[in-house]
Amino acid sequence: MGGIRKSGGFKKGNKLGCGKSYWKGKKFSQKTKLKMRVAQKRLVLLGKHHWGNGLSTPLRKAIRECFKYRQWRSDIFTRDNFRCVFCGNSGYIEADHYPKSFAEIFYGYNIKSVEDAINCEELWNINNGRTLCEDCHKKTGNHGKKFAKKYGR
Ligand SMILES: [Zn+2]
Repeated sequence: MGGIRKSGGFKKGNKLGCGKSYWKGKKFSQKTKLKMRVAQKRLVLLGKHHWGNGLSTPLRKAIRECFKYRQWRSDIFTRDNFRCVFCGNSGYIEADHYPKSFAEIFYGYNIKSVEDAINCEELWNINNGRTLCEDCHKKTGNHGKKFAKKYGR
């Protein structure tokens, strides 16, 4: 303090006093702590915490379930005779985006909704797709460039 304060008619209340702390003296109960931890875990499971890891977002799931994806997948399967392009296995097969990965397209076009995805032609280009069995798909990882090289594709 010190110095003269000119009062301009309004009384300046001590606004700092409004920070009533609701948490004052309250510690999180064991239950709340647990809830918070579970919520955090769920975020991780939803892929909201790290994007780099396989793109397991709800949006990706939604895209995989849309008719356009099913159509694209069946076109790829038909072209490849329902067989894995690497080993010829016709058991459990999956359609893989290749040479451009799903993630590459997804981020490249900044896809933020199922609609964006449906409007993205490159995502549905059957020249950018291949049929893989579960094993081969696993081996390719996210991009599969090493593996693809090995097989000369
Ligand atoms: Zn295979």
